[in-house]
Amino acid sequence: MKITSNFDSGNIEVLSAESPDNIQLAIRKDNQSDFYQWFHFRLNTPHAEPHKMMIMNAGGAAYPDGWKDYQAVASYDRQTWFRVDTEYDGQVLTINYFPEAESCYFAYFAPYSYERHMDLLHQSQADYNCQLVELGETLDGRDMSMLIVGEPAEGKKNIWITARQHPGESMAEWLVEGLIDRLLDEDDGVSRQLLEKAVFYIVPNMNPDGSVRGHLRTNAVGSNLNREWQTPSMEKSPEVFLVRKKMQEIGVDMFLDIHGDENLPYNFVAGTEGVPSYNSRIEQLENTFKQTLVTVTPEFQTKYGYDIDAPGEANMTVGSAWVGDHFKCLAYTVEMPFKDNANLPDEAYGWSDIRSMKLGQDMLTAILAVVDDLR
Ligand SMILES: [Zn+2]
Repeated sequence: MKITSNFDSGNIEVLSAESPDNIQLAIRKDNQSDFYQWFHFRLNTPHAEPHKMMIMNAGGAAYPDGWKDYQAVASYDRQTWFRVDTEYDGQVLTINYFPEAESCYFAYFAPYSYERHMDLLHQSQADYNCQLVELGETLDGRDMSMLIVGEPAEGKKNIWITARQHPGESMAEWLVEGLIDRLLDEDDGVSRQLLEKAVFYIVPNMNPDGSVRGHLRTNAVGSNLNREWQTPSMEKSPEVFLVRKKMQEIGVDMFLDIHGDENLPYNFVAGTEGVPSYNSRIEQLENTFKQTLVTVTPEFQTKYGYDIDAPGEANMTVGSAWVGDHFKCLAYTVEMPFKDNANLPDEAYGWSDIRSMKLGQDMLTAILAVVDDLR
């Protein structure tokens, strides 16, 4: 029996693996940080019997409530990720698994690999409507890459989309892949009309170092990028520094920052009610966006979400707050569940890579509903 995680976005430590009914594991902390929750490992076993994999330090993870009613994902072919029986006792997360093959992968959510990230960038740039732009380098020497979709022209709105500031939130890049697929579909009326009215600046992965390292929340040196937007630096947070600089060059008329939420079993958005420049114009744009998305997909809802900030109380180091206030534009943090959408549960797969992609496609309809009024 062998458990490994020495691969792209792998994360696990083996404490002991003497017998299938007593496999003791621990999740590694993000480098130079106390955050941990993302796991991704491979089990290789000759035993055709039940396996009990216990993550002994689950109770100390960044969001312990995230383990309640949570089911881990597994895959035999690294393509289809299904849910497996998982229990949490307040300290230990136990994955119960009866192997149907000698090798199986387990993860917190369907991983989005660095190779797939590179494929997404390059398959997109092969489209005449899309351009791949390198903004600079991360601390581990990876490219900070942006896709520009559409032809910049006078009067067009600038719509920015970023994903995976928190690298363990892999559903964010799945959403972006779905959104880009639809945006580049020449037979899609919504996309064609959007590209007549707007140009999209898309950063599919804001944190490639953290993603490859198997981090939950931070970059190579332990910076939580979504707390760096007020004062980013090339030393601590080049990812934010480079994207923010490009935003200031080009301008922003709308911003969506895509995330996953450990606790809540719903898709929702968090707006900028607490920033100084928030006003009724932004509120109206928010309402139109939300109402449209609720109408086009039951995967979205507005009842559950974060508490709304009181006026002036927003944390201005957060991406959507800083961008929304600085550019006086519609800016949302978009959250998807690690668990499932409780309004439309799927026992076999839970919230998934495919459902994230479809939500990304639907999001374009909601953007079309507001695009004329963004500026
Ligand atoms: Zn996040």
